[in-house]
Amino acid sequence: MPELSKKLAHFTDSVIRRMTRIANQHGAVNLSQGFPDFDPPAPLKMALEKVAAGSIHQYAITWGAANFRKALARKQSRFMGFEVNPETQVAVTCGSTEAMIASMLTVCNPGDKVIVFSPFYENYTADTILSGAVPIYVHLKPPYYNFDTHELEAAFQQKPKALILCNPSNPSGKVYTLDELQIIAGFAIKYDVFVITDEVYEHIVYTPYHHIYIASLPGMFERTLSCSSLSKTYSITGWRLGYVIAPAQIIDGVRKVHDFLTVGAASPLQEAAVTALEFKDDYYTGLQKSYTEKKEFFLKGLDRLGLKYTVPQGAYYVMVDISEFGASNDVEFCEWLASEVGVAAVPGSSFFREEVHNLIRFHFAKNEETLVSALKALENLRPMANKKIWAR
Ligand code: GLN
Repeated sequence: MPELSKKLAHFTDSVIRRMTRIANQHGAVNLSQGFPDFDPPAPLKMALEKVAAGSIHQYAITWGAANFRKALARKQSRFMGFEVNPETQVAVTCGSTEAMIASMLTVCNPGDKVIVFSPFYENYTADTILSGAVPIYVHLKPPYYNFDTHELEAAFQQKPKALILCNPSNPSGKVYTLDELQIIAGFAIKYDVFVITDEVYEHIVYTPYHHIYIASLPGMFERTLSCSSLSKTYSITGWRLGYVIAPAQIIDGVRKVHDFLTVGAASPLQEAAVTALEFKDDYYTGLQKSYTEKKEFFLKGLDRLGLKYTVPQGAYYVMVDISEFGASNDVEFCEWLASEVGVAAVPGSSFFREEVHNLIRFHFAKNEETLVSALKALENLRPMANKKIWAR
């Protein structure tokens, strides 16, 4: 057989999605791959039913159905604080996963460097490799996940083409402050670098923190590809509706790449999703409230179990410190946790460039019963871990 692409050797399949398969195999409560086990809002499901019975079943315009782009631009203009032009500044993609790889392919030439904060959402490694780019990692140090300004500037001095910014952050739960964003923006402008964002948790932020779109800072719209999706905001991760917002000249490029990657996102789903994009402010405050309750409930449970963690400021993940259990390998720990204790988590090492093996990530985008089952099962963690002899 001829040789397969050399790129394949540089990344593994997704550990997050592998953990879901392991959870299913053992019937474990799945707090690994982050997606809700509750329904999307009822009006959205009703809209989908209506669309299914109608006549929108063929391709939409490759860069997004006009209706959807208009509704999206209206909603994003409201939250981002600047006017987004639906005709020229939006490309609709199959989830933010495609939004980000299309953005990377749009701005990067093979060999270009891209700054990635570590820990990072695992897609970014694959995105850099697939687009022929070379990552420069900048460490966000647990438990607070702050960056060192000198280390960041040193990365910018290596002439990168872009920086990837996940805000609110998966997996750390960090929400970047205005000061931090201004530092990043200052360097991006000084060193003439693009910023590619991943803002899928834009509406899941806990008081007193709030989300600031880096594209809204002075001089930043021009160089920012703002990527996000409807997945987390409307609990529709399976609909695969994402988008990039950027200046027209950049969007022209993204649309071209996107056209040949996937042609387009599902047209009936775009049409139905217009209903969600038109939700009023109370939807977003309700979402915030509901996730705040889930977070409080789950963290209180972790407190009762005496587990140490970093309190998330946004998104729906929590990084838990497993140092006390004596496992030197977090992957082995998570496999054991799923198969023996009955709860699936993601090994922290899959998010870090550095050798970090004492953290695991749980997510809490689940119904209360599911969280109760997970916490109940976790009551066995310490007694079982105390008896366990770790193989690796
Ligand atoms: N963002 C989710 C997570 O980190 C997973 C998304 C996906 O699997 N595409 O768990």
